[in-house]
Amino acid sequence: MNTWIFQGNPKVFDINSYIKNHKYIWWSLRQEHFLDKIELGDEVFLWRSDGNNRGTGGILAKARVISLPEERADDENAKNYWYTDEWENPYLAIKLEVLQVRLEDGFISRLSLLEHPILKELLILRLRQKTNYLLSPEHAIILQKLWNNSHNSVQSKVNVEINMKNLVSGDITETEREQVIKSRIGQSVFKKELVAMERKCQLCGVCDERFLIASHIKPWSKSNHKERLDVNNGLLLCPNHDSLFDKGYISFDDNGTILISKSLDEDTKVFLNINDHMNIEINVKRKHYIEWHRNNVFTKLESLHRKI
Ligand SMILES: [Zn+2]
Repeated sequence: MNTWIFQGNPKVFDINSYIKNHKYIWWSLRQEHFLDKIELGDEVFLWRSDGNNRGTGGILAKARVISLPEERADDENAKNYWYTDEWENPYLAIKLEVLQVRLEDGFISRLSLLEHPILKELLILRLRQKTNYLLSPEHAIILQKLWNNSHNSVQSKVNVEINMKNLVSGDITETEREQVIKSRIGQSVFKKELVAMERKCQLCGVCDERFLIASHIKPWSKSNHKERLDVNNGLLLCPNHDSLFDKGYISFDDNGTILISKSLDEDTKVFLNINDHMNIEINVKRKHYIEWHRNNVFTKLESLHRKI
């Protein structure tokens, strides 16, 4: 599966309303060398360019590819949103299902990406004129993570700092305050500490740092500022195991032995490289984070499957 960024220009097209008002939308494929690369189910982040308002661009929605590229013309649905007659010309387009729209809360601004330690390398930040951008697997994972973490939280550094001011009245020091800002923006301190401690995926041993994700066991959005910086609340995993843990398909008991969702059949477990003999190191401090994950993420998913 690929992950893409598709860009739209609010100067020629009312991208906000189009995305907000329709669950199914069409997006043009202008970089035609990608014709064979688009697959059903691919993830797409929708990017609104600055248009006439400098500094307003960024990612405002996530969608999924549900048709392969096809020639289209006279799209009645989209017509009302164009400020030009461009829609009249036949064009190659892809049908998307809009999954999440975040016009304000959770919007990932271009400016905040420019400050991100890794995502600042995104091609769209350097070559701004294209419509379709294919992300590298590393960028895809990190952007996905950022998108998941930014809901109900603030994105721009300015907002983070305003938030931090509210925290000053609490009992954290200046250093901690700075670390919180850093960990919010890049989570780099947190990851560095965790990599130094654990060095590899705690379940399979992948040790190439480029593919290691420093996950919060109790998610960032649910943690207080101390928990956000606490390395005991971290678990170093490869993208595969991180995704299973993050979504609650696996968790651990008090001894660190893996718990696997009953919704996964034996074949799936083999393909996803999980088995009942796996375990992680548990210390007293980590135990209560794991307990939180087990009770709030893992068990919730399990009961959901039981209902279905
Ligand atoms: Zn792994």
